[in-house]
Amino acid sequence: MIKVVVAGAAGRMGREVCKAVLSEPDMSLVGAVDVSSVGSDVGELLGRGALDMTITDKLQTCLKEKSAQVMVDFTHPSAVMKNVRIALKCGVHAVVGTTGMSEIDLAEIKSLAKDGPANVVVAPNFAIGAVLMMKFSEIAAKYLPDVEIIELHHNQKADAPSGTALKTAQLIAGKRSKETPPNLVEKEVVKGVRGGKTEDIHIHSVRLPGLVAHQEVIFGGVGQTLTIRHDSIDRSSFMPGVLMAIREVGRRRGLTYGLDKLMEL
Ligand code: NAP
Repeated sequence: MIKVVVAGAAGRMGREVCKAVLSEPDMSLVGAVDVSSVGSDVGELLGRGALDMTITDKLQTCLKEKSAQVMVDFTHPSAVMKNVRIALKCGVHAVVGTTGMSEIDLAEIKSLAKDGPANVVVAPNFAIGAVLMMKFSEIAAKYLPDVEIIELHHNQKADAPSGTALKTAQLIAGKRSKETPPNLVEKEVVKGVRGGKTEDIHIHSVRLPGLVAHQEVIFGGVGQTLTIRHDSIDRSSFMPGVLMAIREVGRRRGLTYGLDKLMEL
C-alpha cells in the first residue's frame, strides 16, 4: 500500500487527486494539506461523506505523523519549492504537478534528490494525450520547422505561458533543423499581439472561463499546415498520469522530469 499525502488537497487538481488515490486498491490517502479549508473533512470536500480526515496546513507534521511515502503537490508556483524541500528533508518521494517552476528550481530539486533517499517526478502535464501531442510535435518539427503554439486555459491559472507550452517549445527546438527566418517587416500595432517568444517560437496564451487545458501546435509548410491539438476537457484526464507517477517515483532515482520518461516514449 503506497501512503500518499496530497498538498493543495482543497484545490481543483488536489481534490481530483484525492478522489483518484482513494479509488486505487494499492494506495492509501493518509493526509491532505492545504492553506485553504483547514479543518474541513476531506470526504465532505470531495462530496462523498465524512472520511474522518481533516485538511491541515502543517505539511511536515503530516508527512511524519502519517509515515507518508509519496507527497503529491498541486499547489501554487509560490508554494511548491518549499513543499518539495520539506518532502525531501523528510525522506518522502514527491510527485509534482504544479507548474511555473524555473530552471533554477529544477536544478535545485535535481541536486537535493540526487543522493536519495527520496526521489522526485515533475511533470508539467500529466495527461497522457498531451504527452503524445508533445511527442508528435517533436517528430513534426524535423520536417516542418515553422511553428507557433497556442495554449488555452481556464482564467484562474496563475502562470503564463503554460508549462506544457514551454516544454513543447523546448522539444521542438531540439529537433528543428533550422531557426525560422524572421518576417522582414512586422509591426505590432497592438503590443504583444504576436504573443511571447521562447526558443524562437511564438507562444500565445488564452485565458477564459469554461476552458480546462488545451493546446494547439500549428506547423506551416509550403502549401500546407499541420495542426496537432490536445484538449483536457475534464481534470480527470490528468489522473492516469498522476497515478503512474505515484507508483513509479520510488523506483526512479533522483529527479525525473516529464511524464514521457515514465511512458518510455
Ligand atoms: P487551485 O484550485 O488554486 O488549487 C491549489 C490549492 O493549493 C489551493 O487550495 C491553494 O490555496 C493551495 N495552496 C497554496 N499554497 C499552498 C501551500 N503552501 N500548501 C498547501 N496548499 C497550498 O489550482 P489548480 O487548478 O488545482 O492547479 C494547481 C497547480 O497545478 C497549478 O500550478 C496548475 O498550473 C497545475 N496543474 C498542473 C497540471 C499537470 O498536469 N501537471 C494539470 C492541471 C493543473 P489558496 O487557494 O488559498 O491559494
